[in-house]
Amino acid sequence: MRIDSLRTHLRTLGALPLHEDRILRDWVRNSGHEHGRRRPGDFLPKPLREALPRIDAQLDGLARILSTYPAEDGSARLLVGLQDGQTVESVLLPRDGVCVSSQVGCAVGCQFCMTGQGGLVRQVTSGEIVAQVVLARRRRSVKKVVFMGMGEPAHNLDNVMEAIELLGVEGNIAHKNLVFSTVGDPRVFERLPSGRVKPALALSLHTTKPALRERLLPRAPRITPAQLVEEGERYARLTGYPIQYQWTLMEGVNDGQDELDALVDLLRGRYAVLNMIPYNANEGLPFQRPGWDKAERIAAWLFERGILTKLRDSAGQDVDGGCGQLRARAAQPIKI
Ligand code: SF4
Repeated sequence: MRIDSLRTHLRTLGALPLHEDRILRDWVRNSGHEHGRRRPGDFLPKPLREALPRIDAQLDGLARILSTYPAEDGSARLLVGLQDGQTVESVLLPRDGVCVSSQVGCAVGCQFCMTGQGGLVRQVTSGEIVAQVVLARRRRSVKKVVFMGMGEPAHNLDNVMEAIELLGVEGNIAHKNLVFSTVGDPRVFERLPSGRVKPALALSLHTTKPALRERLLPRAPRITPAQLVEEGERYARLTGYPIQYQWTLMEGVNDGQDELDALVDLLRGRYAVLNMIPYNANEGLPFQRPGWDKAERIAAWLFERGILTKLRDSAGQDVDGGCGQLRARAAQPIKI
């Protein structure tokens, strides 16, 4: 279900725009049930009021949690089932964040990513994206939503933008706390600046070398790291929030001095944060995680040279839950 088709359906039941907004707001804030929206004599036209139990059931049926993998770092990975039996992953992040998936599978095919190995299965609808946030809110408060789960949001732009608008307008989430993550598709730079809600932007950089980037991200748009940073800088100046450059640190691949020197040249003076994330090793993929000490040294070296670098661990290391791993495991029987 897409949010705009839900709005159309509500209109056929007599909803005015304020009724639509109210129903969607109660859903996305997960507040309808607790705060008595559905009391007799409520404000909605009768046909709409009578249809609400069915609409609630439809919304509840969009997604459900199949299994939960809590980790020691305070995060929890969720395997989420969709109506057609497909599964995606969401992650409850420390400090009231949730990471959601925008596609079942992914067409970009990053060499180091489990999700990328199986290709794209289907798009996740805007309703299913918001449903992942609602499921998270049933467990705890959510003040930040990052689109860094399975899939490339730029390849599902209409659904992702619709979800972002609902979350930013009715969902009580600050626009800068909605983080659109992409490998860098030109459509993103055309579309995001004109959105009613302008999310923060995370750009997957991973290397300063164009040829290596083409190998690591084989079906990403052919945009060089330098062009990516130029586009990012424009968006950062427009919105007033820094670009979050993502760098998955892989032993012997992108942790050499040549990369670090080039990274300083590329990002110095930019309105940017560099998130350096030591690779979360995946069985069957030929990439290794560097030692934490080495990662710390690299981050400190960059920081001393004026690059605002944050060393982060990907959530759920101890549950072996890197993006795509839960779903891959679910292809075999798992305990639900
Ligand atoms: Fe797709 Fe992201 Fe995995 Fe690359 S890292 S294959 S863009 S899900």
